[in-house]
Amino acid sequence: MATALIERFHSVQNRIHQACLDAKRSPESVRLLAVSKTKPIEDILILAEQGQICFGENYVQESLLKVAKSPELEWHFIGPIQSNKTKPIAEHFDWVHSVDRLKIAQRLSSQRPENLAPLNILLEVNISEEPSKAGFTPQEVLDIAQQIADLPNLTLRGLMAIPQRAEDFESQRAPFALMRGLLHSLQKQNPNAPLDTLSMGMSADLEAAIMEGATMVRIGTDIFGARNTP
Ligand SMILES: *Cc1c(COP(=O)(O)O)cnc(C)c1O
Repeated sequence: MATALIERFHSVQNRIHQACLDAKRSPESVRLLAVSKTKPIEDILILAEQGQICFGENYVQESLLKVAKSPELEWHFIGPIQSNKTKPIAEHFDWVHSVDRLKIAQRLSSQRPENLAPLNILLEVNISEEPSKAGFTPQEVLDIAQQIADLPNLTLRGLMAIPQRAEDFESQRAPFALMRGLLHSLQKQNPNAPLDTLSMGMSADLEAAIMEGATMVRIGTDIFGARNTP
């Protein structure tokens, strides 16, 4: 079990490395977020021993047990957020990728404990403009970012997206290219903000995301294997 997990982990690291070379980017410019939702803490600890630091979780209740066992790791919340669940997220996570409403940002800021560093957040963008999906429209992002700049206990670091599934490389690239442009506009609007993060790319499309400037790829299945539904 452990060796298969470690092999898959290294093979994902190699894919990221190769994708950076293909995109003429430095391999250090892309961080791997290991998406451990539904997976046991034992798997997380095996990867931590291999040097993996950042882990992504989607479900509050499940994640709190894991965070409590390994608070020294860097924990990223990437799942849908109900407004009555913001407090434990504000208290126990380092990053939140799935901020999709202003109200969620306001609550995270007011509930972030004062003794902790500001919570790093990303705005989730519904980049393929699918009616069923969460996220701000691309048109909303600049305005929302202005309002979030006033919240004291958050640091806006950039944008996150889960584009519509596409099979071929060029179709995968298109929404990621839009994300790259959107982050660029945001950076121009806020030249002094630390807007350094584009969280995009999953198991099936990490190469296309890296080609278009992803700085953090979120990989679950290709590291941990198929998930049991929670
Ligand atoms: C589950 C999940 C992932 C990981 O997806 P895989 O296809 O298993 O790599 C990435 N991002 C988000 C937001 C997720 O919910």
